[in-house]
Amino acid sequence: MSKFCFKCGDFRDTFTKTVSESYKIRGENIEIEVDREFCSKCSEMLGSDKQDAEIQLRLYSIYRKRADLLSPEEIRNIRSGYGLSQRSFANLLGMSEATINRYERGALQDKTHDNLIRACKSADYVRDLLTRNGSQLSSWQKEKANKAINNGAGKQIFTEDFNEQCFPNEISLITGYRNFSYERFSKAVIFLCSEMGEVCTTVLNKLLFYADFICFAKSTVSLTGSAYRRLIFGPVPSDYDGAFSRMVDDKLIKSEEVEFDNGICGFYFSTSESSEDLKSVFSKSEIKVLEFIANKFKGMKAKDISDLSHKEDAWLHTNDRDLITYDYATNLKITMPD
Ligand SMILES: [Zn+2]
Repeated sequence: MSKFCFKCGDFRDTFTKTVSESYKIRGENIEIEVDREFCSKCSEMLGSDKQDAEIQLRLYSIYRKRADLLSPEEIRNIRSGYGLSQRSFANLLGMSEATINRYERGALQDKTHDNLIRACKSADYVRDLLTRNGSQLSSWQKEKANKAINNGAGKQIFTEDFNEQCFPNEISLITGYRNFSYERFSKAVIFLCSEMGEVCTTVLNKLLFYADFICFAKSTVSLTGSAYRRLIFGPVPSDYDGAFSRMVDDKLIKSEEVEFDNGICGFYFSTSESSEDLKSVFSKSEIKVLEFIANKFKGMKAKDISDLSHKEDAWLHTNDRDLITYDYATNLKITMPD
């Protein structure tokens, strides 16, 4: 295919070569491979505005991943999940319609705006915005958004865009209004392991679920900030595998695989006497919850614990593999006496 070469001042045949190019986005160096066309006569690189625009989008997308910013699709999904127009959404957030429009078409958002839009993943937050800034919306837009929330807007958005192998790091109903804390998580695991003697993975996952959800029921904030996913065998911390492996690497627990008739189960043991330093991270009432859990489940069979978790609304009303909202903490089958 021939292209106009400005250096030759004529149409020329071209050849393509992949070159490595580096760019700077908001002070961050980003290197990418680009298929460039060159004039076969003078070897001048023949770019185009279209290609520049494509490169720009690629760079932004890389930068967004590094800086943990929402993608344009995520922004659009959050907004449209509530049935809001770009104008209504912008009005609610105190931003301009043009800004939202640009972000959805790929412009790089600033961090403050990203935080605002991200907060809208929580239906509670949007409901609050509708109450406070709703007068700026047409009544049908307001009604549409409230209807979407009542139909579970927010919640669906939440569960869709988290990849499986991570703990969502944000304060929402998915994390029990606490940022995930590895320290809290590992201290809780160490405590449960040392109290129970040895714990198999499925049981440990359920104990953590109950500890987090009971804490949330008592104080509207979870114990560890872990999100929980609904799996066939019950609720599990969204990245239990990663967290337990890290704990083994950090020599906080030991693991052992034991063979059973129906397969292999991983067991965890505590390596340290750790009850002492629980006080450094947990409040008195949080420690009470952990002790309650350990006492309640000590000596219970794995299958019985699993069956119990299958009776929970949190498990029954969540789709397979989805994240579970802490909303369900209020009607657990297990309640802790005050
Ligand atoms: Zn040329």
